[in-house]
Amino acid sequence: MSTYGDRGNVLTIWQRCRWRGIEVEVKEIDLKEKINPAEIDFYFFGGGQDQAQKIVSSDLQRYKKDDLRKAARLGAVFFAICGGYQLLGHYYRPALGDELTGLGLLDVVTVAGNQRMIGNIVVELNEKLKLNKENLLVGFENHSGRTYIGKRAAALGKVVVGYGNNGEDRTEGAYQGNVFGCYLHGPILPKNPNFTDFLIEKALFRRFGKIQLTKLDNDLEDKAHEVAIERARESR
Ligand code: GLN
Repeated sequence: MSTYGDRGNVLTIWQRCRWRGIEVEVKEIDLKEKINPAEIDFYFFGGGQDQAQKIVSSDLQRYKKDDLRKAARLGAVFFAICGGYQLLGHYYRPALGDELTGLGLLDVVTVAGNQRMIGNIVVELNEKLKLNKENLLVGFENHSGRTYIGKRAAALGKVVVGYGNNGEDRTEGAYQGNVFGCYLHGPILPKNPNFTDFLIEKALFRRFGKIQLTKLDNDLEDKAHEVAIERARESR
């Protein structure tokens, strides 16, 4: 799944690794395809409308659930956006049709609301994630799902501008161990280079232990980040 250019997040991870001389192999996982938990260090799930989620949910349950859960236990990093994020939780209950079972990698549940939450969004990252640099995330949200966080997960951050998880509790996204999800489309990563590098360092940890990524010139990315935040503040 990949709504609103979510696939651009994969390109961003690949490019910010390549600029550092880190070889990355990108593998698109298809329906009915099995997963080798030892092989993959970073899983990305894009967003998708209810119909696509229905297809993906049953495929995950039938062909991938056990191996993805094993991959999470082995320390692989998961990053999911919107519809993908909803399917990392226990379930997504759409407005019409049956409840879609999730992977249960995040202690969250999602139910469709009667109003779409659409617009630019700015989030202050959870300080527990210790991104000791710029800790604002900026993106675009478009979802009717309302996600509620359980005890075993933590909010990715606090909404500064926009709706976030459910438009009620001012939380946005969730994380649990190395599993991260949020509603920020955009794609989110090109305009949030520090968070991108944070995910890359986590994904490399399993094979190479703690590493310090070499610094890149983020001038263009930082400018895009600032302009997007400005626009978001003006737009709400
Ligand atoms: N179908 C889900 C919702 O509307 C996810 C949409 C999306 O991925 N943009 O909440």
